[in-house]
Parts: sequence; structure tokens; C-alpha cells
Amino acid sequence: MSVDLNFLQQIGYVFSAMLFIYGLKMLGKEDTAVKGNVISALGMLLALLVTFGNILNPVLIFSAILTGGVIGSIFAIKVKMTSIPEMVALFNGFGGLSSFFLAWSEFNTYASVSVILFVTCLTVFIGGVTFSGSLIAYFKLSEIFKGSSKTLNTISRWLLIVFLGYLAIAMLQVISSSFGFFVFDFEIIKIVFLGLLVISLLSGLAFVLPIGGGDMPVVISLLNSLSGIAAAMAGILLSNTALIVAGCLVGASGLILTLIMAKSMNRTLFNIFFVGFSDTGVSGGEVEGEVKPISAEDTFLILEAASSILVVPGYGMAVAQAQHVVKELGDLLEENNAEISYGIHPVAGRMPGHMNVLLAEANVSYDNLFEPKDLNPRMETVDVVLVIGANDVVNPSATEQPGSPIYGMPIIEVHKAKTVVVLKRSMSSGFAGVQNPLFFKENTRMLFGDAKESISKLVAEFKE
Ligand code: NDP
Repeated sequence: MSVDLNFLQQIGYVFSAMLFIYGLKMLGKEDTAVKGNVISALGMLLALLVTFGNILNPVLIFSAILTGGVIGSIFAIKVKMTSIPEMVALFNGFGGLSSFFLAWSEFNTYASVSVILFVTCLTVFIGGVTFSGSLIAYFKLSEIFKGSSKTLNTISRWLLIVFLGYLAIAMLQVISSSFGFFVFDFEIIKIVFLGLLVISLLSGLAFVLPIGGGDMPVVISLLNSLSGIAAAMAGILLSNTALIVAGCLVGASGLILTLIMAKSMNRTLFNIFFVGFSDTGVSGGEVEGEVKPISAEDTFLILEAASSILVVPGYGMAVAQAQHVVKELGDLLEENNAEISYGIHPVAGRMPGHMNVLLAEANVSYDNLFEPKDLNPRMETVDVVLVIGANDVVNPSATEQPGSPIYGMPIIEVHKAKTVVVLKRSMSSGFAGVQNPLFFKENTRMLFGDAKESISKLVAEFKE
């Protein structure tokens, strides 16, 4: 009895798809997330193994996997915790680049098959945009590039029109082929295709370069989604079921995340990509009041007397790696009969879910985490808010100063609490580069210093 290798391969792909989906579902809860990751990785291993059964040069492919695996592992082991968002952006970009190259290499095979030519053009475009856009996101997250520009918004609108022109050419080719002829000669299509390679890379630059602080998280999740869509399309070109399923999963989940992030930032995707932040040129406007520093000892006295305390972490907590001492302080406050909750802003930190991951690592229960919409209505009743390395996500100019570049962005309205203690090292601004009037409010005290050191001092005071 002969074994149909192709059939076995398809069965293998179906099983790997099941593992991807099961693993993805387990990522939704902190106690099953690690297992979910391992299960999804096993799905990918199975997909690789069954693909091996059908390829002409396994040695070449195996060496490529080994080289990529070693380089990727070195990166992942060496990367600092605070640089993980940049690394994720870069990995998205490489995903896009591989689909870009793959579609390019398939072009000559399929240029005369019109429907596939259409998919090839789309794959090249989405892959190219993902690659160059992710590179810019990488530089923005590393704070090498800053700011935004209205001119580039105009350029991106023009590039979109050019791309729509490309789609029209591809459509004409598809429609004419169904009537038995081609509108455009293959040589012309070849030249047009080379133009598309350039346009796609330029579009990524033009789309992401103008995007400012508050919109970056949306862009990052969209780029993640695009890398999945490009992979799914590459899967169609290669007729590879596993690649199609994996790409669709990344594409769809990334798109859902993008929409959630855009909604929580009060923005539409059109506004983000084609209008940009309200670029007023001001960095927060005039602020009234004075900065009132406080010592760790005095902060301890305030906390000791408080009965409801809200902790709002931000990027600075990730930099200081303060999550474990934050949890320790939280436990001590609870022992002191205070009610403690954690306010999580969807864009706090530098990647979606950044604060959730850090707090989960420190074993803070998900039940104690609250979103801005749950916290803001009862903020007046909170005795003390501890703002730990957060800045933009608690900046009241987003609600109070119509001229501010972040006006309209939803925030955690900590300034409405009875007392606010902000832990940070200096008066410098956050990612959006905007002055924060919270630091000058009557009810705010500034506990200057590295967040981990400051909280360790508070913990020591409680233990004494
Ligand atoms: P911010 O970037 O606004 O502010 C972080 C603050 O942490 C800084 O003001 C800094 O002040 C302080 N800080 C840094 N290191 C330490 C330390 N060791 N100890 C104490 N404080 C420290 O952070 P937020 O979380 O409030 O806001 C996130 C911003 O990043 C938003 O603008 C968001 O749009 C953007 N963004 C978010 C992404 C996401 O997916 N979550 C992705 C890309 C961008 P100082 O130097 O004085 O200590």
C-alpha cells in the first residue's frame, strides 16, 4: 500500500493548526499562558517537520532554520527586559520582509496567472509596508526618532492613491484574462512590479514616520496584524495550509487588538494614519502651581493612614524592574487594612499588555487590576494614588487643555484623588514629550528617585 505524502502533510498541518488555536486560547489566562506558548511552539515544530517531508533540499532548509534559530535565540537571551517592545517590532518587520521576498521570488512563476498575480502584488505591498514601517517603529520605540510631521501624512495619502492605481492595473489584468486576453504586456507588468517594490517600502516609512506618541501602540498592533496577513498571503502563493492558518491567526488577533487599542485611545484608524496627532507645536502649554517634593518617610506616613490606595504603574516601573517590590508593598498595605487596587491603562509601558505582564510576573492577581473606565468614576473616593513611573497615561492636559498634543486621549484621572504621590527620577516628560500639569497640582507630591529604590525604602519603613 503506497502512502500519499501530500495527504499526510495536510493532516500534519491540520494538527498543527489545532495546536496553534488551543495554545492561543490558553494565552488568555496568566496561569495557562506559559503552557499555551509551549503548545503553540509545538504546533510550529510539527508544521516544520511535515514540510520537511516534501522538500527537495532538506539540508539547505535545515541550515537556514538553524542559522535563524541561533541568531533569534541570541537576540532573545541578550535583550534587556525594557527593550522587548523594540525586539517585537523588529521581529514583526522580519516577518513582513520574508513575505515580501517570497512574493517577489514567486513573481516570475505566476506573472501570467492573473489572480495569483493580484495576490503576489498584495503580498509584496503588505510585506514591504510591514518591514519598513516596523523598522521606523523600532527606531521610535528606542527613542532614536521622535515627533511627527503633517507633510508625511500628505505623502502617505498620495502613496495610498498610487497603490490603489496598482490594484486597478492588477484588477484590469485579472478581468481581461477571463475574456481570453491581457490588457498589459508581461514586460510592462514586470516594470510596474519593480515600481511596486519601491512604493511598498516607501509607504511603510510614510505611514509610520508621522505617527506621534499616543498613537504608537495602535500602529504596533496593526504592524503585527499586517505581518500575519502578509504571511497568510504568502501561504496562498505556496499553497501551504499551515502558513495560511498561522498568518490568519496573527492577522485576525492583531486586528482585534488594533481596534481595541484605537477605541481605548478614542481614535479611528483613518485619523491615526491620515490625519495624525493634533500637532500644535506646544509641549503641554502653561502649567500653574509648584512642584512639592516628598521624602520616603513622609510618604510612608501618608500610606499608613490611608484606607484606599490605587497603584498606577507605567513605563518607569518596567525600567526600574520594580514590579516585585510593588507587589511586596501592596501586600504590606493590605496587612495594614488598606484596600489596594492597580490601575492599568491600555497603552501604559511600551507594548500592549506591558503592565499586565509585569504584574503577572510578580503574582499580582488579575482580579485587582482595573481599567480607566472602572476607576475614573470613583477616583474622588481614593485616599492615595501611587503613580509608579507613569506619565502620559495620567496627564490631565489630555482632558483639560484643548491645545495639547495629547488632547482627547483617555487617561486615568488620578488628579481627582485626595492625594497623589508620583514616583519618578526627574521632571522629564514621557514618551509623547508633553509637560504634565499633574506634577504641579495642589494634591500632588513628587517622590524623586528610581522607582525600585523608592519603593524598597517604603517597604523597609513598613517592616520597621
Ligand atoms: P511615559 O513614557 O509617559 O513615562 C514614563 C516615565 O517613567 C517617565 O516620565 C520617566 O521619568 C519615568 N521613569 C523612567 N525610568 C524610571 C525609573 N527607573 N524610576 C522611576 N521612574 C522612571 O510612560 P506611560 O506608561 O505613562 O505612557 C506610555 C507612553 O508610551 C504613552 O505615550 C504611549 O502612547 C506610548 N507607547 C505605548 C506603547 C504601548 O503599546 N503600550 C507602544 C509605544 C508607545 P524620569 O525620567 O523623570 O524618571
